[in-house]
Amino acid sequence: MPTRRVLRIDNDEDKVVLKTRTRPVKFPNPGLKQLAKDMLETMHIANGVGLAAPQIGLSHRIAVVYIPPEVEEHEDGTTTETVPEQIYVLINPEVVKASDEEEVGLEGCLSLPGWYGDVPRAAWVTVDYQGLDGKRYRIRKADGLLGRALQHEIDHLDGILFTERIRDLSTLKDYSKEKEAETESAEH
Ligand code: ZN
Repeated sequence: MPTRRVLRIDNDEDKVVLKTRTRPVKFPNPGLKQLAKDMLETMHIANGVGLAAPQIGLSHRIAVVYIPPEVEEHEDGTTTETVPEQIYVLINPEVVKASDEEEVGLEGCLSLPGWYGDVPRAAWVTVDYQGLDGKRYRIRKADGLLGRALQHEIDHLDGILFTERIRDLSTLKDYSKEKEAETESAEH
């Protein structure tokens, strides 16, 4: 399965592509399944929770999101999965409703590895999208990591970068050489 090069915010040529608004995906689309596979593989190898098509140089309205499972650890060292992993292939996604309430959280991006900053996002969003089958689906009131990942990826599809959402740019820091990189922050 071929993985793709991830474009970077700090590369001028890449940034032009990242800043380009995507075109809607039309159905039927024979190349779509393979593209989604490649995007999932590229995201997993980079340990990301999301990847949008512009990040691999394509101005198509498609993104993938991976939310890891929640695991409970017991005293005897065994673990139980309390919430299963969630994998989404989002074609033509749109935010159709968003909370007025805002949450500020540490956020990163696979197009700027190691860097994290405080990004304000709606506390929850409802998102409509099409699946690989072309059918319409809805994710209702997604909050937490999923809500943040959806907003981050849909921003990518509109040519908006997380660095543009940061109000206090002094919070944008390179954590790659610090232990804090192992906090709960996640790259999209
Ligand atoms: Zn990103």
